[in-house]
Amino acid sequence: MPDASRPSVLVCGAGAAGLTAAIFAAQNGAEITLLERTEKAGKKILMSGGTRCNVLPAQMKLNDYFTDSSVNRMKNIFKSWSLNACKQWFEDEIGLKLACETHSNKWFPVSNSAKEVRNLLLKKALESGVQVVYNAPVENLEPENGKWRVRTSNGKSFEANRVIISTGGYSIPTIGTDGMGHRFMKKAGHTIRPVYAALTPLLGTNKQHHALSGISLDVELSVYTGGKKTFTSERSGFLFTHRGYSGPAILDASHHYIKAKMNGKETPVFRVNWAGIERESWNQALINGKGNVISVLKEKLPARLCEMIIQKAGLEQRKTAELKKEERRDLLALLTEYELPISGDEGYRKAEVTGGGIPLEEINTKTLESLKLPGVYLCGEIIDVFGRIGGFNFYWAWVTGRLAGLGQR
Ligand SMILES: Cc1cc2nc3c(=O)[nH]c(=O)nc-3n(C[C@H](O)[C@H](O)[C@H](O)COP(=O)(O)OP(=O)(O)OC[C@H]3O[C@@H](n4cnc5c(N)ncnc54)[C@H](O)[C@@H]3O)c2cc1C
Repeated sequence: MPDASRPSVLVCGAGAAGLTAAIFAAQNGAEITLLERTEKAGKKILMSGGTRCNVLPAQMKLNDYFTDSSVNRMKNIFKSWSLNACKQWFEDEIGLKLACETHSNKWFPVSNSAKEVRNLLLKKALESGVQVVYNAPVENLEPENGKWRVRTSNGKSFEANRVIISTGGYSIPTIGTDGMGHRFMKKAGHTIRPVYAALTPLLGTNKQHHALSGISLDVELSVYTGGKKTFTSERSGFLFTHRGYSGPAILDASHHYIKAKMNGKETPVFRVNWAGIERESWNQALINGKGNVISVLKEKLPARLCEMIIQKAGLEQRKTAELKKEERRDLLALLTEYELPISGDEGYRKAEVTGGGIPLEEINTKTLESLKLPGVYLCGEIIDVFGRIGGFNFYWAWVTGRLAGLGQR
């Protein structure tokens, strides 16, 4: 039986942000019902980080995140919970032991088990008194007699003093995240900034590249828009796939291509410095190298990639000593500024997150209460913020989930 003397809170969506919000809201003494569209909580946590779950980054800067809203507003939200305090919460309150993968600067569970992360969060929510209702796809939110009425598409109806929206985004729509939350929030009166797939693999039509499928290496990737460099990745993983390109370097840059396409703008140019070695270092290696040109390349790059580059340069069987100045110049360009022929993207089907969404300008950044719908709070991917690969997106989900759960006014 609902206890009429306690404030009631409905949390819509039992993902990373919703579970965190429910835990914090319950600790405030409220009666919490967590409505989940599917039959399971935290499906994305389960599949995250290759099922290892990269819970947090080891360090973070504001430019690890992307938003079309005010960066200052985003900064205010991050100020509410430091990385360290968040990590401490996981270890002390949730009981999740974390280990830092030093080469990538990422925190993972010591168990390397995404299932442990999901299970411990759900356990904490249940122990805190949260009631979880599965198969409850929320489709409508409206005010009623000073409270909020939430209706699901299968005929259930709930009432509460306050509602937290944590329905995620559009990425991997087959597991229950297809923008349903965006649709009912638009109907309820919020602006939805145009959404787009982010952190998704890119496609390419070059058959020579497809033949390299499975080869991975660390690269430096730069994106040029209108001839100007608009993005450079840190040296990070690149993977040839049978349809194009993936790996953190590509995923982190993919939204530059997708947003340009969405806005009808000029397609940006993607240039790769294979191995991230400076042009002058390659130059010296070629000048001082003995034997075939390809042997110099093979010291630093995977053999099949070297063969492709040498073929493209027309330098098969050539010796370093025979290289003409122009040939060396063209080879250096292929090694350090190789243009990737991008022809499309994998979209939401493979995207890790959604760009765009509810603008920060429509949210009180101290509390995450909607400025349009008092008593409604927002958290997680539905807000117009996403981070690069590396635990940044979960950090956003935990920070915003906590703030929305606290329910300050
Ligand atoms: C393959 C993959 C790997 C990833 N790995 C990492 C990683 O290692 N580290 C990292 O930081 N980030 C990672 N991410 C990103 C991360 O998963 C998301 O940023 C994060 O899950 C967003 O949290 P959220 O709670 O906002 O949304 P979600 O976790 O997507 O949760 C939304 C929940 O709401 C439910 N829902 C949707 N609509 C409704 C509705 N109408 N009514 C009721 N419930 C609804 C959904 O079923 C879901 O349970 C990964 C993403 C993917 C796809």
